[in-house]
Amino acid sequence: ESVEGPFHIEIQEVTFSYPETKKEVLSYLTLSIQAGEKLAILGRSGSGKSTLASLIRGDLLPTDGQITLNGIDTVRFGDSITDYIGVIHQNPYLFHTSILNNIRIGRQSATEEEVWDVLARVGLKEMVEALPDGLLTMVDEAGLRFSGGERHRMALARILLKDVPIILLDEPTVGLDPITEQALLDTFFNELHEKTIIWITHHLQGISLMDRVIFIEDGQLEMSGSPKEL
Ligand code: ATP
Ligand code: MG
Repeated sequence: ESVEGPFHIEIQEVTFSYPETKKEVLSYLTLSIQAGEKLAILGRSGSGKSTLASLIRGDLLPTDGQITLNGIDTVRFGDSITDYIGVIHQNPYLFHTSILNNIRIGRQSATEEEVWDVLARVGLKEMVEALPDGLLTMVDEAGLRFSGGERHRMALARILLKDVPIILLDEPTVGLDPITEQALLDTFFNELHEKTIIWITHHLQGISLMDRVIFIEDGQLEMSGSPKEL
């Protein structure tokens, strides 16, 4: 399947249990996300936020209900869903190859100049410049030579390079200092104002930049409103 923007996501009465357990992680969750919306998803640890992210992206399939992108079940997109929705997971995955290749996974045709540009936007340019091998520095599989915050920023750079219309961030600022975090939030909410951003977070910092905040509890949408109302 392929669809044209503006992109609009509908989560319709979605229920989900992991196969090996009986407990419903999400039950009859309904949520509609408009094109360009900046949505924050809050909820306690274990409330199902990351599970919801995986469902939206099609990495997990609902036990019941459906999720659509412009009216089409996301299941029908197969791998091409990644052209529409970019995800940064809680523990971003880096590959055992150069920094350049790790970022360019977003878009193979990108020039080195474009890669430097996204690195600058996520605040990694100076760090990479200081490495003896620069962009060609190898990343080991666990990404061990980079801190948690640097790994997150590399994943962010990858998504920025890919230029997808919908970006799903699962706690992308964990492990960042407040100044770097603020800079990243500014990148995401000012530069990318036309994109849909779904931001899963534990804390309230930066929430005033969002159009809407929802709380998930016991697998259901507990509360929703604009940051001002909360
Ligand atoms: P956190 O804020 O800690 O990241 P979360 O809201 O993202 O939490 P999820 O990771 O979606 O929560 O997990 C929701 C529930 O599903 C939890 O009870 C968790 O133990 C369970 N769960 C998550 N992944 C799996 C899995 N692969 N198999 C079985 N149960 C799982
Ligand atoms: Mg999570």
